[in-house]
Amino acid sequence: MSKSNVQHDKDTLRPLESQINMLTSLIDRGKTHHRFPKALESEYRNFVLGQFVAVDLKIISVGLLIFVIFGWADFSFGGDNAVILFTVRCALAATLFACVITIPRTPFLPYSIHALVLGIYICFLCLIWNITMVEGPESYFYHISMVPMQVFALLGLRSSYRAMIVCSLSMLLSYTAFVVWYPMPEVMSSFDELALATAPFYILFWSILIVMASYLSFIIESSTRTDYIKNRLLALEAERLQYLGRRLQQLSTTDSLTGIANRRYVEDQLGDEWLRCTRSGTPLAAVMLDVDYFKKYNDHYGHQQGDVCLKAIAEKMAEYCRRPGDVCARYGGEEFLMLLPETSAKQANDIATGVCTAIAAMKLEHTKSPLGIATVSIGVAAMVPKSGKNYEQLIRQADIALYEAKANGRNQVCLASSSEAP
Ligand code: GH3
Ligand code: MG
Ligand code: MG
Repeated sequence: MSKSNVQHDKDTLRPLESQINMLTSLIDRGKTHHRFPKALESEYRNFVLGQFVAVDLKIISVGLLIFVIFGWADFSFGGDNAVILFTVRCALAATLFACVITIPRTPFLPYSIHALVLGIYICFLCLIWNITMVEGPESYFYHISMVPMQVFALLGLRSSYRAMIVCSLSMLLSYTAFVVWYPMPEVMSSFDELALATAPFYILFWSILIVMASYLSFIIESSTRTDYIKNRLLALEAERLQYLGRRLQQLSTTDSLTGIANRRYVEDQLGDEWLRCTRSGTPLAAVMLDVDYFKKYNDHYGHQQGDVCLKAIAEKMAEYCRRPGDVCARYGGEEFLMLLPETSAKQANDIATGVCTAIAAMKLEHTKSPLGIATVSIGVAAMVPKSGKNYEQLIRQADIALYEAKANGRNQVCLASSSEAP
């Protein structure tokens, strides 16, 4: 395995593993419902915003529609002010709806929850204003409409318990202040007296509702955070496994010294290409290459330098595997094999001659060779595969040709005499 591969493994796996460790420790320490570390928290918020845009904007739009539908009350209870009440209600709903449509498309998207809190509070103020505009017991309809307003706040802000508490308490406190400070009619009807007497209970039940809803939204937010961490962990584990799987596959098919394919891979490919060329009736060529006097090279320059020489030869050879199906592999020791599908004997012979010449042209010093440089001998064979035969015959022919090249003086290419011209 080359150094750069080891480095690449480290560079890829370390960040993944450190994230996995961080998430696992959050789960182990039961801290998934707390705020996350900064970077993770901002990713979580983006995720929540995505959900908000996908689901909650529809809920808000429906809420605004209901707000407008409740406008019938303006005509039933608003008396002389009915038109102005309804106009303000519709104008407010239209403005908020325009915000709902546009905010997700603007840089203000991260502030959607804040905007929602503000929107709910503005609608609440509108209801308070309605109370001041309606005279007589009819105004109590608007007092009661605080309930659907609060329910909507609970629903719309369920996934952010802090925002929910801020919004609900603001409404409750403002309403309480309003009830306390707003002057009651001078002459109170029995209905006004009853409303005044029940107001503390109204506020009490409202407070209880807020407490229960806060707890509920805290649970919802906690479980959303926990699910988010677990899903993220699963995704990271999957990514890590995928990477390791790919690397394992790569390692099992790659020669660790030269970085080109190994014997196992080329034999697999040979089987596949043999069948493919049998079906298509096209020739398959094998180029077998052996380094000349390599034992002497090792004995003289040392095994390590021998490895350097093998790498250089493999690299040069690989440059000649240009088409997608071509494979260049280390077949064993100082022997290499090129597999060239849909290549005739002549084409393969030309490629092999190119390789032989290019390796000699590198002029790798080899004082123990009669030629003074490192050279290779190459045997070439090509045949149109036929069912009934198998690829071993092709390899055997290339091997025989290789020994012919050796026998003829090395540093040359020999084409197997039995090779079939296409
Ligand atoms: P010929 O010209 O007939 O091929 O002679 P040769 O010396 O190249 O052939 P021989 O089969 O006698 O020797 C092959 C040498 O290749 C022996 C072995 O030490 C060396 N060899 C095999 N694998 C490796 C390897 O991975 N690294 C190094 N450095 N040498 C290797
Ligand atoms: Mg050999
Ligand atoms: Mg040799």
